[in-house]
Amino acid sequence: MNIGQEVLNLLKEEITEIEYQRYIKQLIYDQKKSTSDFAIFYAPNILISNWMQRKYSEKISYLFEVKSDLKPIVSITLKNAIDKQKNKKNLEPKIQQSLLNPSNTFSNFMVGGSNQFAYAAVKSVSEKAGEVYNPLFLHGGVGLGKTHLMQAAGNIFQSQGKSVIYTTVEQFLNDFKRHVRNKTMERFQEKYRKCDVLLIDDIQFLSNKEGIQEEFFHTFEALKEAGKQIILTADKHPKKIDGLEKRLQSRFEWGLVADIQPPELETKIAIIENKCLINKVKLSKDIVNYIATVIENNVREIEGILSKLHAYSQLMHLDIDLTFTKNVLKDQVQENHANLTLDIIIKSVAKELNIKPSEIRSKGRSQSLLYARRVAIHLCRELTQSTMPQLAQYFGMKDHTAISHTIRRINELILDDENFRIKVLELQTKINSVTK
Ligand code: ADP
Ligand code: MG
Repeated sequence: MNIGQEVLNLLKEEITEIEYQRYIKQLIYDQKKSTSDFAIFYAPNILISNWMQRKYSEKISYLFEVKSDLKPIVSITLKNAIDKQKNKKNLEPKIQQSLLNPSNTFSNFMVGGSNQFAYAAVKSVSEKAGEVYNPLFLHGGVGLGKTHLMQAAGNIFQSQGKSVIYTTVEQFLNDFKRHVRNKTMERFQEKYRKCDVLLIDDIQFLSNKEGIQEEFFHTFEALKEAGKQIILTADKHPKKIDGLEKRLQSRFEWGLVADIQPPELETKIAIIENKCLINKVKLSKDIVNYIATVIENNVREIEGILSKLHAYSQLMHLDIDLTFTKNVLKDQVQENHANLTLDIIIKSVAKELNIKPSEIRSKGRSQSLLYARRVAIHLCRELTQSTMPQLAQYFGMKDHTAISHTIRRINELILDDENFRIKVLELQTKINSVTK
């Protein structure tokens, strides 16, 4: 059995049988293309792959670490996405050091006032590697397109046959530790100092890690000296990253520092339309507009919303119209406003099921109380940010495993029983409207 399959078997023990059968079982591990840095799994379609990437990739990466001591970046993707990328570029495998998301391209990046400066900077770097702004430092909030832009340049470089390394600080650090442990530092240095382009994401995580800052400093110097392009991203300006050596801080400003601001409504609409096109989801104009008003600043939410709409419409056999969208996204709106409390949920569930709120939190074990308690726990988990231990405490349960058991059970019921599923969704809609 290959390691990928072993890891999926480990995962199987942590999720429900139905979840496993429906989703995880469909994953295929690509042993040949996977490396110690990247584990590649294929999913049957793009929405499932996007959803699974979000839901399981970190967990799978962690399970790899449990099994093998390596913690690769996990990519759950479509088989032909990678094949296409490879065929198109016809590259030697050794050049293909990093897996870049092939849909992170300039043409898929919607430009507006908020991001045009960063866009123009990355675009010009992609046309003249190492010659214009080196390093190029992008900064901005979560989900505003930093990784997308950086990889768009990476995709161009790769298509020109350049060796591109894309890595997160965490990955760089893990790689460093592994080579130290195996006493193969020359290979580490060869890898990072001999590439044509180095892309490092979320550089703020270098903060207060002296050993790796030292190593990174030398990598930086070697690349810069050889005229190789470096692109970095962070959630803030280099000056504002605490715990960063002065010499690194100043070097980060040597080239160009470009920021990305949250998108305007028009840009959000363009991004949503573009994502629909890529994911082959058809939405009417009023739905697109509605989604644009629901998401606040984080563009990453858009893909989550599209997968959610798709999954719910399949699960409930309903078309995606505006009412449906509003229902499905009510909790999204809640998350953004975060004003729904556990007490409100309990109260609504109790009212709806004709029992007392205190009974839901009691130790009573009648059929109807068990039912109400399960539904309440499920909704608390879905609609608030509460953690399992918090819920265990709130519901007077032994510990978080009791909560996770309940949630698993209810997820099974939701998948199995159509009537139940609709009841829960109705209840959810009502609760959402309570806080409107
Ligand atoms: P960051 O790295 O800044 O946290 P990402 O680059 O990961 O953000 O972007 C999050 C998601 O939003 C990605 O799916 C990306 O493709 C998308 N995205 C962000 N900005 C844009 C944009 N201007 N046009 C199209 N997609 C965008
Ligand atoms: Mg990013």
